Amino acid sequence: MTTLRKCRKLFEDATKVIPGGVNSPVRAFKAVGSNPIFIDKAKGAYLYDADGNKYIDYCLSWGPMILGHARSEVLAQVKKVMAKGTSFGVPTELETHLARMIVQAIGSVEKVRLVSSGTEAVMTAIRLARGCTGRDKIIKFIGCYHGHVDHMLVQAGSGAMTLGSPSSPGVPKDFTKHTILLPYNNTEMLEKALNKYRGQIAAVIVEPIAGNMGVVPPRKGFLKTIRKLCTKNSSILIFDEVITGFRIKYGSVQDIFGVKADLTCLGKIIGGGFPIGACGGKAKLMDKLAPTGQVYQAGTLSGNPVCVAAGIATLKLLKPKTIYSGLERATEKLCIGIQEALAGRGIEHTINRIGSMFTVFFNPGPVTDYVSAVKSDTKMYAKFHAAMLRDGVYLPPSQFEACFVSAEHKQKDIDRTIVAARKGKL
Ligand SMILES: *Cc1c(COP(=O)(O)O)cnc(C)c1O
Repeated sequence: MTTLRKCRKLFEDATKVIPGGVNSPVRAFKAVGSNPIFIDKAKGAYLYDADGNKYIDYCLSWGPMILGHARSEVLAQVKKVMAKGTSFGVPTELETHLARMIVQAIGSVEKVRLVSSGTEAVMTAIRLARGCTGRDKIIKFIGCYHGHVDHMLVQAGSGAMTLGSPSSPGVPKDFTKHTILLPYNNTEMLEKALNKYRGQIAAVIVEPIAGNMGVVPPRKGFLKTIRKLCTKNSSILIFDEVITGFRIKYGSVQDIFGVKADLTCLGKIIGGGFPIGACGGKAKLMDKLAPTGQVYQAGTLSGNPVCVAAGIATLKLLKPKTIYSGLERATEKLCIGIQEALAGRGIEHTINRIGSMFTVFFNPGPVTDYVSAVKSDTKMYAKFHAAMLRDGVYLPPSQFEACFVSAEHKQKDIDRTIVAARKGKL
């Protein structure tokens, strides 16, 4: 790395006209106590900042760029479509094409509504669940993130299984009082909560592999038990697969865990780097949405041809199974290398990995839920983040995020990253 002079200046300029200088808070690098890099361009596995520094990117725009940045096949499709107009506010055949690809890829999805972000997908799923069940309460797991939907911006009270209190000013208590918070990977508490609120729970929403407290895989049987209890209580099971959809395999992780969700939320990868989201499920449920049903949901730019074309091109390229086995192998090698590097330096840590997503927690572990995740040494993470950045490796600017590997990360990139983990000054 040479200097970050230009990045600093750009950040300073940005803070004058954009709150905190960023359009999404974690980008401000506050969680690692530094200033953001400003990106000029990206290609494949690499980001290039405004000062001309090059980084191997393990954040990948928070997950979407699974094929690497500026993939020529995706850009070609987008350009072709764009030349014919970018939004019409009336349907296009492309929307059916992407919807069909999703329906064919995910067994529990028969119909899908396209929206413009993961947040909107979750909003849609929650409203639909409430509308269909006539119930208000939602169960959510602590440490899972479901976008900045009012009802989901909830903190645990003093004891678990208390009703949620808002985690942000501007969210009325009257909204979050309908959200019940439970620890991730804890089926006993879930069973208790469903008994306590019998007949009142509209939905249970879960990240089937948690990615927003760092990567935390589900314990054996966790998702199956949720499924069983939801069925027993006539509550809707919502899988928030905004990260995991098309990340671990082509389609949904529901196949891996042998569990079918009632509603599945997607985003990130299915837009190939453009703003998108989707909510899908059984036709009977999805047809409760307007205009066939009474549950209202809409969007001016929903399903616009540009995002949809990028999504179609991305999914087409992801379809060969070898992509996912390659991603898994590369990520496993990387994690073993980082583990050996840190262990060799006597730094306490544990790595959670599944497929091509992982988190290095600075905490001896095991990390199985929010409480064990927040035991991590975030100061050490900040040092690690800074050291890696200096050596040309970009990790997400917070301990509690997932790292991602793309199909463009080559052996030499993995090797360089491991050397940086071994040598970077902490
Ligand atoms: C990113 C994310 C969201 C929100 O998606 P946006 O497109 O940022 O609104 C929702 N749920 C999960 C699990 C996510 O990771």
